[in-house]
Amino acid sequence: MSNNETVNTEKKGKVWLVGAGPGDVSLITLRGRDVLAQAEVVVYDALVRGGMMSLVPDDAELIYAGKRSGNHTMKQDAINSLLLEKALEGKRVVRLKGGDPFLFGRGGEELELLVENGIEFEIVPGVTSAFAAPAYAGIPVTHRDFCRGVSVMTGHRRSNGSLDIDFGALAASGNTLVFLMGMSTLDLIRDGLLGAGMPGDTPAAIVESGTTASQRVLTTDLAHLCETAEENGAKAPAVTVIGGVAGLADVYCWRGSLPLNGVRAIVTRPKELSSGLASMLRRDGAEVIEVPVIDIEPVRGNEALKDAIELLADGGYQWVVLTSPSGVRVFMDELMKTSDLRALAGSRIAALGKGTEAELAKRGIHADMLPTMYDGRTLGAELAKLLVPGDRVLIPRAAIGNKALNRELSKVNDVIIDDIPTYDTVCRGPSWFNAEKEVCEDDTFAMFTSASGVRGFADAYPDLDFSKVKAVCIGNMTAAEAEKRGMKVWISEEATLAALADRLKQAADELGLTGINK
Ligand code: SAH
Repeated sequence: MSNNETVNTEKKGKVWLVGAGPGDVSLITLRGRDVLAQAEVVVYDALVRGGMMSLVPDDAELIYAGKRSGNHTMKQDAINSLLLEKALEGKRVVRLKGGDPFLFGRGGEELELLVENGIEFEIVPGVTSAFAAPAYAGIPVTHRDFCRGVSVMTGHRRSNGSLDIDFGALAASGNTLVFLMGMSTLDLIRDGLLGAGMPGDTPAAIVESGTTASQRVLTTDLAHLCETAEENGAKAPAVTVIGGVAGLADVYCWRGSLPLNGVRAIVTRPKELSSGLASMLRRDGAEVIEVPVIDIEPVRGNEALKDAIELLADGGYQWVVLTSPSGVRVFMDELMKTSDLRALAGSRIAALGKGTEAELAKRGIHADMLPTMYDGRTLGAELAKLLVPGDRVLIPRAAIGNKALNRELSKVNDVIIDDIPTYDTVCRGPSWFNAEKEVCEDDTFAMFTSASGVRGFADAYPDLDFSKVKAVCIGNMTAAEAEKRGMKVWISEEATLAALADRLKQAADELGLTGINK
C-alpha cells in the first residue's frame, strides 16, 4: 500500500491476506511489510512471531485468532465473519498468517465470504516454512543428483484418523517429500512409505521451529524417524524432509553455525528509532524482537528552549551538549522552527555516544567532542577540561537528565549551565508483547543501551520478575540500573553496538545456548 493508495472508507474496507513468512521476521516480503505498516486491524495466528508486531502501527487493533495448546480461540467461521465485519466498517484489515497464506493456511476459505460480499482483497504471498525451514537447515529441497521434484504434504489426519496420502505414488515419484503438520503422525508416514517400498536408509530430517532462534535440525533416516523424534523430544511446528537431500543438512549447515544461533534478544527502544542493533544481531543469527517501550514526547510550548535558541543564535553559548539521538531530534526540530543551522555557528558541540554523533551528522553537524566513556560523569569531567571560567553551556535534554554531568561541569569557575528539559519519556509496552512469557525464557536476553532504557523497560513491565531477566548492558550506568532491579547482568565496557553484540555472544556461550541444535 503506498501512501496515496486509499480505501473508500465510506463504503467498504479492504482485506489483505498476508504471509508472515516462516518465523524469522526479516523473511516477510517488502509488500507484506508495507501493508502491515498501514493496517488498521490485524488478525494474526499462533505461528506469527511477536517480533513481527513491531511492524504494525501502534494504534492498530490486534486480534489474536490462533490456537493455543490445541484450543481454537476462534473457529474458522468466526474468523471469516470477523474479516467481513471489519472490512464492512471500512477498515484496512490485514489477515496475517504464518508462512504462505495459501499453503495449508485455509486462506482460500477466508476469501469466500469476502467475495460473496464484494469486499476488495489482495493476496500477499509469503515465504513458506515448507521450503524455508529446510533452507535454514541447509537442505535444498530439490537437487539434480537426488530428486526430480518436491512434494509438499500435510500429515494432518482425516476425521477417520487416517492419512489421505497415496504413499505408493509418493514413493514412486522420486521426489523429495516435505511433510507439514506431521509430528503426531510420523509413525503413519514412516509405515506408509516403508510399506510402499521406500528404503529404510533414505535420509530424513526434522526441522523444528525453523528460521527461529529455537531452530533444531535432527538428521536421521526413514527407518529411525520416530525414534529420533522421540529421543529428542521433537515438537511442532516442524517440517519433516524425506529424500536424499535431507542428508545434505550436515554438509550445508549454515544457520546453525552463526555465532548467535540459538539466542533470542529483546531489543527495547524508543518508538521512532530503527535499530542498528537489531539488524546486527540478526545478521549473527539471533532472533530479535524489537519492543518499543519508550515514547518520546517533546515538551510543548517550551519557552525556556525558545529563549535558549535565541541566545544561541546571538553567540551566547560556548558549548551545546547533546546526550541522546532523541535529544538531537527534538532540539534540532525546535531550532529549525525559529532559526536555522547558523544558530550553532558560534558554539562547539559535545555528543554523548555514537548514536548521538550520528544523529547530528545526519543534520550536517560534526560533534567537536565525544567522551572516552559514554556516561554523564565522564562527559562532564572531560568537557570540564575544555571549558574556561565564565563559559555558558546549553544542555537541551530529557527531563530526567543525569545530574553527574552538571556536577562535573560546575567544578569550573563561573560556568553557567542551562540544563533545559526538552522532552519526556513515557514508558509503556505494546499490547502484543507478553513480557512475562517472552523475556524470561532460557534462551532470551534483554539488550540495554542506556540506563533510561532499563528504567523504561522496568516501568513498562512493573510486574515482571526481574530476577529472571538476563540483561546485556552497555556501560556501568546501564548495568547499575539493571542490577538495582535484580536482573542478571553482563556488561559491555566498550560503548559500541558491536561490543554489545560480542558480550551477548559471551553470555550465551556461558549459558551453553549457542552452537548447533542447542
Ligand atoms: N502456511 C504455513 C503452513 C501452515 S500449517 C506455511 O506456509 O508455512 C502449519 C505447519 O507449518 C506446522 O505444523 C509445521 O509443519 C509448519 N511450520 C510452520 N512454521 C514452521 C517453522 N518455523 N518451522 C518448521 N515448520 C513450520
